[in-house]
Amino acid sequence: MSEQLRYIPGIGPKVEATLLEMGITSRFELLNYFPTRYRDYEETERIDGEKVTVIGSVFRDPRTVRLRGKQILKTQIQHNGDVLEVVVFNRNYLAAQLQVGSEVLVSGKYDEKQRKITAQEIRLVSDKGVDTLVAHYPLPPGMSKARFAKIMLAVFESIEIQNILPEYLHEKYRLIGRKDAYRLIHFPETYEDIEQARRYLKYEELFLFQLQMRMLHYMNANVAAAGDIKAFEYEQVDAFIAKLPFTLTDGQAQAVAEILNDLEQPQAMNRLLQGDVGSGKTVVGAIGLYANALAGYQGAFMAPTEILAEQHYEGLSELFADSQFQVALLTSSTPKRERKQMLAELASGLLDIIIGTHALIQDDIHFAHLGMVITDEQHRFGVEQRRVLRLKGERVDVLSMSATPIPRTMAISVFGDMDVSSIRELPSGRKQIQTELYMEEQWDFVVEQMVSELKAGRQAYVVCPLIEESEHLDVQNATELYEHLRAELPEFRIGLLHGKQKSDMKQETIDAFKDHQLDVIVSTTVIEVGVNVPNATIMIVYDADRFGLAQLHQLRGRVGRGQYQSYCYLVTKTKKERLQILAETTDGFRISEYDLFTRGPGDFFGHKQSGLPDFKVANIVEDFKILEVARDDVQQMIASRELFSSADCARLREYLDRKSLLNKGQVD
Ligand code: ADP
Ligand code: MG
Repeated sequence: MSEQLRYIPGIGPKVEATLLEMGITSRFELLNYFPTRYRDYEETERIDGEKVTVIGSVFRDPRTVRLRGKQILKTQIQHNGDVLEVVVFNRNYLAAQLQVGSEVLVSGKYDEKQRKITAQEIRLVSDKGVDTLVAHYPLPPGMSKARFAKIMLAVFESIEIQNILPEYLHEKYRLIGRKDAYRLIHFPETYEDIEQARRYLKYEELFLFQLQMRMLHYMNANVAAAGDIKAFEYEQVDAFIAKLPFTLTDGQAQAVAEILNDLEQPQAMNRLLQGDVGSGKTVVGAIGLYANALAGYQGAFMAPTEILAEQHYEGLSELFADSQFQVALLTSSTPKRERKQMLAELASGLLDIIIGTHALIQDDIHFAHLGMVITDEQHRFGVEQRRVLRLKGERVDVLSMSATPIPRTMAISVFGDMDVSSIRELPSGRKQIQTELYMEEQWDFVVEQMVSELKAGRQAYVVCPLIEESEHLDVQNATELYEHLRAELPEFRIGLLHGKQKSDMKQETIDAFKDHQLDVIVSTTVIEVGVNVPNATIMIVYDADRFGLAQLHQLRGRVGRGQYQSYCYLVTKTKKERLQILAETTDGFRISEYDLFTRGPGDFFGHKQSGLPDFKVANIVEDFKILEVARDDVQQMIASRELFSSADCARLREYLDRKSLLNKGQVD
């Protein structure tokens, strides 16, 4: 629905420009610009010194005066038998409206002794009665409240809004109509109105979200043709697993079984593998890649950073060392000549498994027969990037890995287009990481603790916060701390790692740390993912309260990877209750649950990293029940095929069609 806003009465080019700035490009988007709060105009008692709201009748013609550049309007109203003085500043234009006898609503500070209200607001009460609730919108300076309300009304009246959900769902949940919902969210009279409107809009939003997810899933499951079933010998896979230097945990074994089963199905796999840091997701993915290769297909493994890609490459090279399969690493620092050769080998099918960064999704990369794609830390890639990689082959099996575990029911609902495997336990024998909270004043003590570990031959990470406003400050912070520690601890070898460094320099520092050429790494969050140094036993996080819990938990996962007792010290300037949960548990699922339910998804999922849409009215935590209900309704509607055939669902089909989520073939 794109039409130029300026053709709507009351909107000129200037207002249109302001609306565009607000992200509003169409009438429908304007209607979806929802109020953030409502102002209450219910009458209050007259209490001395308080802000009061009264409705009375004008008792005396207003007088206007100017005093030291201020306009002052004075009048009197009659209220409950009393005559009250009313004073308003800088609103002299109201004088013409306030005629003796007319009903007005006055709200402002009340002075009992003088029987006077210093009003912030005076409004005429129309014949229809006063609107008791007024919507408030976040507006830029160029847009007045009054004008915006007027535009909203004009647009609402000019637009045709029909129900989109089938009638039976309206009945089932006693939902008001769609048009009413839009009317009441913008122009409510009572709180009940707002409640009804929100109830409808939340359900609609979550329902349509689920509908899209399930349809993606459904289409995915129905595109694969027979013959794409991957054939491999379980015995060979078992032999591969038997050669690992450890036995798989139950969670790993279960995930492997689910993945292998997916590979054998005629539908393309679309699976999320979630498990805590250190739960051993990589090897699960590697086993999948092995089976995929046995079946004669190529595999790609994409990681968000070079460091991580490099590490996966090392790990997988080892795992595949005595197999017949060729493994290679491709990043943006791969030399041109090598890259060229690699591309040729990929295209001819000589290379079986490629590991890399975003470099894997460049246009000139072609596979002979790509069969499986893994994205590690999937939330770090956009939906589009994941899609591009998948489209490098036909009917590719996709495994997405995430170290930010979320409760399974939520994962299923939120990532409705994916199946979910969860690894809940860590490999046995891991020592619990001891986590302690310290105030900044205790910094010297924290450093002492570190020094005693360093003296015992261990290594340490010191992490500085990401400063959102400025990447520059970030680097500066880390650099300062680095210099400070170097001056203080000359007997130890300290390295610095931050995002502004060239990648080979970063790699050098990390390699040096791995080889124990360095005792300490001071770093910004670049080390959050990927570094695996079992000898490192200390993780110090400076200004820990600037991190989300999930992120801190991930950082902590950098230690405790070897045989030694490890420690995590969280240092803050002020005491932060929420960090306590980290001291209490190392179970990532519990931490994420806590984070989700105390702070909401924004904080938990980080900044638009989760691949979740921005919900306008709904909140996936608070409204999780509605999400589940909507999911079931959608599933039922697909299973019964009503979605494709019933007249009641025609509008939903149009909606899906607009989103290209409906094959004509699906309509009966
Ligand atoms: P993550 O899930 O964080 O990606 P990794 O795959 O990096 O975890 O595994 C962390 C470490 O645990 C690796 O060194 C890996 O070799 C090791 N590991 C994986 N599975 C097991 C297991 N079942 N028993 C012991 N160690 C394991
Ligand atoms: Mg990993």
